[in-house]
Amino acid sequence: MSQPDRPNFSIEFFPPKTPEGQRKLRVERAKLAELNPMYFSVTFGAGGSTQQGTLDTVLEIRAEGWEAAPHLSCIGGSAQSIRSVLKQYQAHGIRRVVALRGDLPSGYGSNGEFRYADELVGFIRKETGDWFQIEVAAYPEMHPQARSPEDDLINFVRKIKAGANAAITQYFYNADAYFQFVDAARKLGVTVPIVAGIMPITNYTQLMRFSDMCGAEIPRWIRLKLAGFCDDSESIKAFGIDVVTQMCERLLAGGAPGLHFYSLNQAPATMTIWRRLVSR
Ligand code: FAD
Repeated sequence: MSQPDRPNFSIEFFPPKTPEGQRKLRVERAKLAELNPMYFSVTFGAGGSTQQGTLDTVLEIRAEGWEAAPHLSCIGGSAQSIRSVLKQYQAHGIRRVVALRGDLPSGYGSNGEFRYADELVGFIRKETGDWFQIEVAAYPEMHPQARSPEDDLINFVRKIKAGANAAITQYFYNADAYFQFVDAARKLGVTVPIVAGIMPITNYTQLMRFSDMCGAEIPRWIRLKLAGFCDDSESIKAFGIDVVTQMCERLLAGGAPGLHFYSLNQAPATMTIWRRLVSR
């Protein structure tokens, strides 16, 4: 794939909690930077739990010369707390954020002043005008708390109408769900890019746990194959890379404007998939 055809390609990290995690992330990030991504993004814990780690990681990435986008989740937050985070981001010259509702950990007291991500997007626009490129989340297989796919789509459109510039999807392993979602959004007048979120498959137990939580479906045939490999982690990784690369090829060929890799702070699978994609 030549450079001008290059799709929008970004990579997500979570902020490490320990100095050892930070050191490891630097090593993985240096490898991933060889792929020349458009930007890196860094997640944000609901209720602001990782706020400082998010900013520190973003600043470190920027100091290495890369664009970095902090995520910002609003649940549990007040207008004042979100305003001060936005001011901090602006003061550091950050121009891109991934705006989310987030999920409160169980037992967390109040939902705060924001109920849904569209309210956060509207607030960011009201407070900061066009300063930020705002990315929001999209759910081709429906957000697990939505009443129906139709309702969820309408709620997605609210975020775009509130001022989001682009969307990144939850991960999925069924390309048709993505294409169907994009078509339906286009029919409702959404014109912004909807980038496909990609979760490389490297660990069966972890994948099942994440997918249960976020509502991503693991197709039966993939689940059975992975279960059949038992503890053979090399076969799981090899199979996972084949399956995910083929899906990415289909997505890009079908018009996906880009791929956003949930790296889980590990370089190898994302690197192999991306290199296979660009070498074909
Ligand atoms: P919303 O868009 O607000 O939707 C949440 C639910 O409410 C949906 O069911 C929707 O249909 C419904 N809804 C929305 N608006 C309305 C309305 N006006 N009336 C009634 N119902 C409504 N979580 C984190 O904590 N930190 C992160 O850094 C993070 N990064 C993420 C990055 C990506 C790309 C993705 C896809 C998810 C990320 N998440 C993160 C997870 C996300 O916070 C959860 O999926 C969360 O449950 C929903 O967030 P949202 O922004 O999509 O919420």
